[in-house]
Amino acid sequence: MRFCSTRGGAKGATLAEALCTGYAPDGGLFVPEELPRISETTLAWWASLDFPALALELLTLFVGDELPPEELADVVHGSYVNFSHKDIVPVIPLAEAAVVAELFHGPTYCFKDLGQQLLVRLLARFAERDKQKKTFLVSTTGDTGPAAMRAVADAASDYLQIVVFFPSGQISELQRRQMTTASTAKAKVATFEGGGDDMDLPLKRLSSDRAFVEKHGLCGINSYNLGRPLAQLPHFFWSYFRAVEQLGFALGSPVDLVIPGGALGNTAAAFMAKEMGLPVQRLICGVNQNDITHRTISKGEFHRHECMFKTLSDAINIQVPYNMERIFYYLTGEDRLLVKSWMEQMDCTSQLTLPEAWHQKMQQIFASARIDDDAMCEAMKRSVAEFGYLPCPHTAVALGAHFATPADVPRVIFATASPCKFQSSVTTALGQETWKNYEDSSNFPPSARSLFSKEETEPERFSARDTLNNSQDAWELRLREILGN
Ligand SMILES: *Cc1c(COP(=O)(O)O)cnc(C)c1O
Repeated sequence: MRFCSTRGGAKGATLAEALCTGYAPDGGLFVPEELPRISETTLAWWASLDFPALALELLTLFVGDELPPEELADVVHGSYVNFSHKDIVPVIPLAEAAVVAELFHGPTYCFKDLGQQLLVRLLARFAERDKQKKTFLVSTTGDTGPAAMRAVADAASDYLQIVVFFPSGQISELQRRQMTTASTAKAKVATFEGGGDDMDLPLKRLSSDRAFVEKHGLCGINSYNLGRPLAQLPHFFWSYFRAVEQLGFALGSPVDLVIPGGALGNTAAAFMAKEMGLPVQRLICGVNQNDITHRTISKGEFHRHECMFKTLSDAINIQVPYNMERIFYYLTGEDRLLVKSWMEQMDCTSQLTLPEAWHQKMQQIFASARIDDDAMCEAMKRSVAEFGYLPCPHTAVALGAHFATPADVPRVIFATASPCKFQSSVTTALGQETWKNYEDSSNFPPSARSLFSKEETEPERFSARDTLNNSQDAWELRLREILGN
């Protein structure tokens, strides 16, 4: 299989080339040159496989002969060894025609483990094969940092290193401990004195310094990297199979998928799965007050807001979701010229209004709901009262979208994180006592509890100077020093 950019460039790229650069050179995102179509016979066979075996079948379609089959099998199986549930993704009945697919039984209790573990292990194999080291620099306010750091530590390759930054005092104690207790010589954690995105500029400058990128094999592993959506295909197939089995529908019956959307990597993967032949009727996207995706789906207005709102579901706070570009790509039937003109307009003016015919097409495939903090708290309460199910705030946003949109086929709701990571939001929604009961119950992951007694490594501190500009200059220099210029 070969890969190309959503904007028409980079034709004929190998998977290694697509994964190792992150963005395509023309500013677009990598996609497969042709998406494989899965026949009904194959679907019936896949329904009988366990999760790692299903993932291996799917990944083989995209990796082709770029890795020997036994190496790919090793990568895929290794990606799930640190999951705590035997099914990897347990699917739980919620109501008469709805199930929850729990994507958070990985080592950092959020669905990002599913993408990062596989992507990082693939990159490790390519790095070892090509004898070329890879460096990841990640600035995080939530789930990405711990998952990326843990994936690098677990992959244990001499060829990989990562530095993860978090804004001092602005993440939860559990999230901090996930990083400070996992740091190694190759996986460093650092903290900076500033606002959530103040480290973005120094990192951006480094990633546009060609010599630096070459020397260190700098590579972006956010969900603009194609490896993330590819690694997130298996859980959509898996959850579909378990849903129809559990709800008593025939294989081939359509279902709706309900997903909390941030950068839309997961939603883009779900759309790809649909395009490959998974019987999906609608993709339903729940978002918070940062609602650009809802405005795009409901009004055709892909317009950037000037500011980002703080919310109780902060892992899906976003101003411009980069995977909308992949969604446009499949929406338009892979029309690269059209996507290029749309995205260039977006890049220049921060606004794109979809032509009416395309907006209508979008509404045939997608639905959405804006679930603000009040509605999220309501959805969390209703879930506990009606189903006895305690969701994380992002899963509650998906549940809110489920409640807000009429259903005529069974639904799979995707639970993207464990509530154990979000004490403050859960307490705001349900009160101190509910949290305490949960924390003391057997539902609270024991390994999360044990984080609180583990020794923390002091993160390297990037302190503030007199102005933000001077801080950012100093941080860039220090980072060059740490990595060896
Ligand atoms: C990252 C994240 C999301 C959003 O996923 P995208 O692929 O960026 O849309 C949703 N929920 C949780 C808990 C996350 O960490």
